[in-house]
Amino acid sequence: MTVRVSWRKRWGAVAAFALALMAAAPSHAQNRDFSAWLDGVRRDAAAAGISQATIDTALTGLEPLERVIEQDRKQPEFTQTLWTYLDRSVTTGRIERAQRLLAENRPLLDRVYARYGVQPRFLVAFWGLESNFGEHTGGYSVIQALATLAFDPRRGAFFRTQLIDALKIIDEGSITVADMSGSWAGAMGQLQFIPSTFVNYAVDFDGDGRRDIWSNLPDIFASAANFLGNVGWRGDETWGREVRLPADFDWELANLKKRKPIAEWQRLGVRRADGSDLPRADISGAIIAPMGHGGPVFLVYRNFNAILTWNRSILYAVAVGYLADRIAGKGELTAERPANEQPLRRTEIEEIQALLAGLGFNPGDADGIAGSRTRVALKAFQRQANLIADGYPSIEVLEGLRRVTAQKATAN
Ligand code: CA
Repeated sequence: MTVRVSWRKRWGAVAAFALALMAAAPSHAQNRDFSAWLDGVRRDAAAAGISQATIDTALTGLEPLERVIEQDRKQPEFTQTLWTYLDRSVTTGRIERAQRLLAENRPLLDRVYARYGVQPRFLVAFWGLESNFGEHTGGYSVIQALATLAFDPRRGAFFRTQLIDALKIIDEGSITVADMSGSWAGAMGQLQFIPSTFVNYAVDFDGDGRRDIWSNLPDIFASAANFLGNVGWRGDETWGREVRLPADFDWELANLKKRKPIAEWQRLGVRRADGSDLPRADISGAIIAPMGHGGPVFLVYRNFNAILTWNRSILYAVAVGYLADRIAGKGELTAERPANEQPLRRTEIEEIQALLAGLGFNPGDADGIAGSRTRVALKAFQRQANLIADGYPSIEVLEGLRRVTAQKATAN
């Protein structure tokens, strides 16, 4: 709350300054806050070894951009389900285009595979999801976007580090300030690397002296593969697969942290989606059900965790794996999609969280986001109410919570 109030105050001053600029009557007093803050960034940048020329070119005359804060504050009314997410991210058009681009770039992708051990179909899947194969890389000035977010106290420390790293990238000569474009959150180029990821993992694969993730495909694929290789990618394993669970499955085991050898899952009755035996491979995996027991279930291997290091959204990680499978010619998911799927509103997740708290469970803040604490609390409630304990926030669970809460109120 303190953070919010102080942000409003500070942003109010910035917005007022922007209005003053539009009226062609700049008020220097209102801008003092940002420019004083920017002086501190200049000092940090110099201390980090960035040249004065780069600091001047990138930061002189810089102004915050309110549109960036608006993007950062945006909260969608509805939560995404895996189905709605895949509808948008793994389309027939995208699969076909990915197959064509993989064929066209096969020699390069094979060289990257030989060097970094990431299979071509996954690199093309990341490329498709991140920027639609280089089409949508974001039209924001990365320096301006990062400075705006770093000035905003909400996640200021994180974005200040990213801003300094962005200046390092300009300073090393990989890109100019003017060409350093990206998303409103500072994700850059065809892979949407944030500056710290670029600094640590981007690769000059074509050897021209520049690490270019904006327009050079050798650098783009090798940078992605280098990152993945560093976070545990296995070139001889896939990401996971859709599976079928036995009727008596213990839902406590559906947990990304509960890894077991494939043979153990086989013994527990888990099968491939078509009902056949799991592969006989000496690797371990975890069972995940991103939409609870009513949706598709996956057995995921180590590469799934590597994808989550890239982007910690489970839906994103499934989309990468599923798109890579479809690129390789595998079929659609076999789980049946509910006829009248009902994505929950943010306000309904908030209600679930409030009801859980009211019943003595601990779902964390009522923030409308079903994070791991909310899911653990939901599982505990489901167990107590003799429901399938999948921890998935559905309309049925919300109704169950309302019912139990009402009964409790009557009993008291
Ligand atoms: Ca290069």
